[in-house]
Amino acid sequence: MQTIESNTKTTIQEKWEKRPLIISGPCSAETEEQVLATAQQLAATGKVDILRAGIWKPRTKPGMFEGIGAKGLPWMQAAKKLTGLPTAVEVATGKQVQDALTFDVDLLWIGARTTVNPFSVQEVADALRGVDVPVLIKNPINPDLELWSGALERVARAGIKQIGLIHRGFSSYGNTEYRNAPMWHLAIEMKRRNPGVMIINDPSHICGRRDILMEVAQKAIDLDFDGLMIESHIDPDTAWSDAKQQVTPARLVEMLDQIKWRKEDVPSETFHAALDKFREQINHIDDELMQLLGQRMQIADKIGEYKKNNSVTILQTNRWNQILEKAFGKGERLGLSQEFITRYLDAVHMESINRQNKIMNA
Ligand code: PEP
Ligand code: MN
Repeated sequence: MQTIESNTKTTIQEKWEKRPLIISGPCSAETEEQVLATAQQLAATGKVDILRAGIWKPRTKPGMFEGIGAKGLPWMQAAKKLTGLPTAVEVATGKQVQDALTFDVDLLWIGARTTVNPFSVQEVADALRGVDVPVLIKNPINPDLELWSGALERVARAGIKQIGLIHRGFSSYGNTEYRNAPMWHLAIEMKRRNPGVMIINDPSHICGRRDILMEVAQKAIDLDFDGLMIESHIDPDTAWSDAKQQVTPARLVEMLDQIKWRKEDVPSETFHAALDKFREQINHIDDELMQLLGQRMQIADKIGEYKKNNSVTILQTNRWNQILEKAFGKGERLGLSQEFITRYLDAVHMESINRQNKIMNA
């Protein structure tokens, strides 16, 4: 028993350092046969580092499959024994943490529906006190980086040393393409705020469907994520949860083979020299853009004073529509997307409005 335990420890420690880190397994553990068969097929690919399965499933609506519960934990333990793959499950309560640890689960993750709730995160963190187990924290359902950071802090304060993040997208009303919009900028900002903290991407819960998994996974790798968590099931269409987004182990291999794995850096002098040159050009252009924006704001200030003296409103919708339309046309010719133009001009416009507002109410 002692030796098995220490072997397992080494394995998860090694896996924690491995890049790209690939976690795969079914959305839910359903039956012992399903868990063991999936584990065997995934292990046989030689491309999966950690076996995942949901044991307790917090569902948005009642009546959906809420997980097999603690009776699935021995199945995970058996899968590990059979394949050598370390195991990972989602935990949402202190009791679940204890149960998972009792059955030697190697890695725990906090789900999106738990990260949103500081009471739950604290309960999980309290149960982790004094325990040496790696923990991954999924982003909260809603696009709120403070909640995500708060969960990271609570787990860190409990003394957990190996903490990582999982980007699984954010719920947004009326969104149709994705089940959970990736909002990549939020993951990038979280990465920037937490240098050195592992962040992997979960294309399965972002996409909610199989056909666009590849492009999301590729984008994550292009953005230098540390790995992927992808749901895989021996017979996806009959899965008890998330049937539309799961892929067979065979398809998983195809995907992993197709992904272009890029490195953050290469040790080549020519490459670095060329990159430095381009970066310098970009720095110059950014400087110029900044100067121009400063000048633009000064003119906006003058308009603000003028409007004030003539008692005219700040926002003149017609004028704004004209600016947008002109910019869309011009942007298209320059290869700039409408989405970008809209975001950029919205930001510039808001800054102008805020400044004019100050002037007019001074
Ligand atoms: C899951 O990983 O199966 C899951 C429930 O994910 P999320 O917490 O991202 O919804
Ligand atoms: Mn799922």
